Amino acid sequence: MKTIGIIGGMSPESTVLYYQIINREINRRLGGNSSAKIILDSLNFAEIVQLQKSGQWEAAAERLVASARRLASAGADFLLIATNTMHKNAPAVEAAVAIPLLHVVDATAAAIQAQGLERVGLLGTSFTMAEDFYRERMGRHGIGTLIPSYLSYTGAWAPDFMGIEEIDRIIFDELCRGEIKPGSAEFFRQVIDDLREQGAQGVILGCTEICLLINEENSPLPVFDSTRLHALAAVDGALAD
Ligand code: GLU
Repeated sequence: MKTIGIIGGMSPESTVLYYQIINREINRRLGGNSSAKIILDSLNFAEIVQLQKSGQWEAAAERLVASARRLASAGADFLLIATNTMHKNAPAVEAAVAIPLLHVVDATAAAIQAQGLERVGLLGTSFTMAEDFYRERMGRHGIGTLIPSYLSYTGAWAPDFMGIEEIDRIIFDELCRGEIKPGSAEFFRQVIDDLREQGAQGVILGCTEICLLINEENSPLPVFDSTRLHALAAVDGALAD
């Protein structure tokens, strides 16, 4: 079995899910007392958030690169960045270490393709939804993404900046701090319903904490949970020859 290196702590609320999903799936597949070989390097999320919000992406990349180097020298065979947003720095991480990075977009796209879908909603932080790094890579897999929008008075769909801001607030101020509120689940449910009306065939939970609020049961659209799909892809990687 290969050793999985996880750059985690962004936030700890979702890193714990990676740890659990990976170990349970390894145990389900191998049986007995089998568990995963994992090296976790957990960063201080407050420092990362501060760098994100002040646009210091190169300094953020340095933190991730240092983490990747620690994991590689500790013996990890491949890496996960356990957050969607910080895949903005994936190219820097890939360039810095010799071991491969298992990209969250590739893992999530594979599940969407397996369902034969081509147009899905994307929910995540404002960085993930509004910038190119995530949607462009989905596009390379032939998957079009819709983000929260509203029908403007001109009759055209326009980005819903207030909705995007509220999603950020729920992610950073609630979910990443372990606060799960029914009102926020209802807000996400409504946003997903709007995406459905715009033609989305499914929805990517493109932030590793959204699965704490939304799941297959309460979502108006089929969900593609990046946390679960990324973690399961890591299990495939760990058990591959
Ligand atoms: N975990 C979240 C994500 O998947 C947000 C935290 C972060 O900004 O890294 O994007």
